[in-house]
Amino acid sequence: MTEQRYLEDSTVREFDARVERVIDDGETSRVVLDATHFYPEGGGQPADHGALSGSETWPVPDVQKTDEVYHVVESGDAGPTAGEMVRGELDWERRRAHMRYHTAQHLLSALLLEGYDAPTTGNQLHADRARLDCAYERFSDEQLTDIEDRMNELVEAGLGVRWYTLERERAERELDPQRTRLELLPDSITEVRIVEIGDPDDPFDRVACAGTHVEDTKEIGRVEVTGRETRGADGERIAFVLEDE
Ligand SMILES: [Zn+2]
Repeated sequence: MTEQRYLEDSTVREFDARVERVIDDGETSRVVLDATHFYPEGGGQPADHGALSGSETWPVPDVQKTDEVYHVVESGDAGPTAGEMVRGELDWERRRAHMRYHTAQHLLSALLLEGYDAPTTGNQLHADRARLDCAYERFSDEQLTDIEDRMNELVEAGLGVRWYTLERERAERELDPQRTRLELLPDSITEVRIVEIGDPDDPFDRVACAGTHVEDTKEIGRVEVTGRETRGADGERIAFVLEDE
């Protein structure tokens, strides 16, 4: 099983790894490494892009996790081979943007639950925008302005962000069931990764998440709520963008 190193250190842009397995799909291959810093698509966060370099340099346009983490590489005629050492390099601008948007999404989810009793039902991040769906009737313009202001207060407060694993039973006792739906996880999962924002003794938000995050909310930068739309019977979708770094 690939060691998913991005779960511990989200700041690494380049790393060395051994190719464990290659599945030839024609023009592309799926490459399994012994360890990786590439984030596979999941939880609303898109896959990392980048390249693997060995005897050649192969672009990595996608990373997916099923039973394993599969790096899709544009292998052409001569792709990586099992046993080979390769250097992985992330498209850092893209990953960095995903980290900022992901932490912003957690702030927004916590804020909407606390301030509007509106639990998050879905979200999708991109490198230049994000949207979040929640259970709420309809946000007024004044409320959207209030949400934007409060988001920017939380960013400017420079809240610390940290992550660690917790036993599932303890997580089930301690986490807000409206922020984390642990019952959706398969029974085989006995530990969950927690992402926590704010004072460790009284965190502003604490949720199960396998994504990559910034370490300080200041890194998010200025937040602009760009719109809302109705989603389904009792759903609202909020769109937001972050200023460029
Ligand atoms: Zn998350």
